[in-house]
Amino acid sequence: DSKDYDSETESVCPFCGVGCKVSLKVKDGKVKHVEGINGPANEGRLCVKGRFGFDYIHHPHRLTKPLIRRDDAPAKGLNVDPGNLSTHFREATWEEAMDLAGKGLMKLRDEDPKSVAGFGSAKCTNEEAYLFQKFIRQGFKHNNVDHCTRLCHASSVAALIENVGSGAVTATFNEIENADVAIVIGSNPIENHPVAATYFKQFTKRGGKLIVMDPRGVGLRRFATEMVQFRPGADVSMLNAIMNVIVEEELYDSQYIQRWTENWEAEKEHLKQFTPEKMSEICGIEPDQLRRVARIFAGGNAGLIFWGMGISQHIHGTDNSRCLISLALMTGNVGKPGAGLHPLRGQNNVQGASDAGLIPMFLPDYQTVTSDDVRKSFTDVWGGGDFSNEKGLTVTEIVDQAYAGNIKGMYIQGENPAMSDPDADHAREAFAKLELMIVQDIFLTETANYADIILPASALYEKNGTVSNTNRQVQRVRPAVAPPGEAREDWKVTVELARRIGLPWDYKDVSEVFNEMKLNMKSLNNITWERLETETITYPSLHETDPGQAIVFGDGFPRPEGRARFTPASVIPPDEAPDAEYPMIMTTGRQLEHWHTGSMTRRSLVLDAVEPEANCSLNPRTLKLMGVEPGEMVRLSTRRGSIEIMARADRAIAEDMVFVPFAYVEAAANILTNPALDPYGKIPEFKFSAVKVEKI
Ligand code: SF4
Repeated sequence: DSKDYDSETESVCPFCGVGCKVSLKVKDGKVKHVEGINGPANEGRLCVKGRFGFDYIHHPHRLTKPLIRRDDAPAKGLNVDPGNLSTHFREATWEEAMDLAGKGLMKLRDEDPKSVAGFGSAKCTNEEAYLFQKFIRQGFKHNNVDHCTRLCHASSVAALIENVGSGAVTATFNEIENADVAIVIGSNPIENHPVAATYFKQFTKRGGKLIVMDPRGVGLRRFATEMVQFRPGADVSMLNAIMNVIVEEELYDSQYIQRWTENWEAEKEHLKQFTPEKMSEICGIEPDQLRRVARIFAGGNAGLIFWGMGISQHIHGTDNSRCLISLALMTGNVGKPGAGLHPLRGQNNVQGASDAGLIPMFLPDYQTVTSDDVRKSFTDVWGGGDFSNEKGLTVTEIVDQAYAGNIKGMYIQGENPAMSDPDADHAREAFAKLELMIVQDIFLTETANYADIILPASALYEKNGTVSNTNRQVQRVRPAVAPPGEAREDWKVTVELARRIGLPWDYKDVSEVFNEMKLNMKSLNNITWERLETETITYPSLHETDPGQAIVFGDGFPRPEGRARFTPASVIPPDEAPDAEYPMIMTTGRQLEHWHTGSMTRRSLVLDAVEPEANCSLNPRTLKLMGVEPGEMVRLSTRRGSIEIMARADRAIAEDMVFVPFAYVEAAANILTNPALDPYGKIPEFKFSAVKVEKI
């Protein structure tokens, strides 16, 4: 009852890219209750994380004062007790911490500007992401700035920009209301995008045909017209076989192809070799089912394709996305109601942070750093100067350069690469080598264990600004409570640090940052701070009262002659084949109750009570052969390292697979994962590592 609370504030859930709108009920300076409200992406719904996962913001581990590593601290490592930081750090004033950080960064800059790099955050606001990339580009004159999109949908964005001219979704997920067929591939929305999944379930109840494709038998299979449980890493062979059927049976949309695409003849020719019979051996799916899927999807009037990290996190992630784009184009399924391409975004603001230019090859709105005109348009706004026209280093490349000793200083805002990077021990060793590591966060994350200076920051429910969800919907976030102690909003910390390295920054309010972004971001045309006070706006918004376009590219693509492109994809095997020593396949991901590296949800009472322990899932027959009972411990080993973890039985996992969530520091999945990269999106192959599973 509203009379039980002191205040109610509207904001946006801090976890996944669905972007559910919430009302935060506050009593005595603390958020006590969260309710879903009527945002366009959730219509009042919330999942368990949004509903119960808010109390981490009041956890006693919150950082409340700046910290400086003690001179007599033990060697850097994952060795700090979050309940007793004084063994490694001493409290400092903001003045002292900022002075030390600024002088340290300037010393490194004087020696070699490229010795400093930055990781921003998809959990911060659009304005904070924009300021962070500007800090590196203006402050150090290069583009070595990135964030976790590199570990998420970088390959999807590479393929989308290449073939349809834009990295964002072409249709909101709510467009499934107007579809009669949909594919969900490499994605487990019931656990990872639960509110979006409710729309998918409703779609099937209305008679929509749902094709679920995944090496794991994900929860959505219960609602599927076809469940296609293919071999891990065999995406291209399967998708090319499906497209081969569409070509052979002439199920494609000739008019659409002729009017809106290029390179069709080459694609058609390329697909001839990928017959269902030949590809069946690789992907493990019967030719009959491949043909059925092709006929169902091509036979629909309007079809959507949703995908997740099962598609993107492979060394052939860009090729996987190219196939999905080709499938949509050949069936005329882009640019009309109920049709389109939708990579489901992970973090709450990974879309917005990418749009805001927090990536090494692009400035805001995906404008390339290699263009002199583009850079000039930014430096004109920023007050002169220029910065490198070379694309910068990506997340894993920056870590490699830190390991090699070429990068000596890092500014890390709200990311936890000591848990989220592949081959995490390698990343941790790299961080231990840095001369200056500044970490800005709300908790002493695993990454902050290695910091020299820690700056206490704000949780989303303590912030003012905007975020953009998977649907391209821009929404306001508002502070329901103040940050604890001396913690500050992230944008204010970055502004102060910029001043300390000599940049003439002078923002009094976060709305000024938003208004600066608008000067060089056409995507924000007609989206104003004032409108966002009361509206959620989907970009592009065509005029001052347009709530925005749910579907784009109905009248052509932002590419030469307005045409989308078919880019043929060939079959590339995973980087690391199982062998006698590592005979099984490990894949990683999230589970419903925990978010990414667990720093927030494992400090949330309800969520931690439901899922308190590191676990992996194996097929019951595999467990039986090993003599392991569910609940017993197993050892997982790859060429990178070993972890010990509790085993669960899951009939939906293939017998030669193990699934490991990456939220648990005590059994960190990323100690095991393969850092091999997709050459285009530079995304690591999190979804396929050769692994040995042993009974302990
Ligand atoms: Fe939050 Fe995503 Fe759950 Fe919505 S679906 S409540 S945005 S975690």
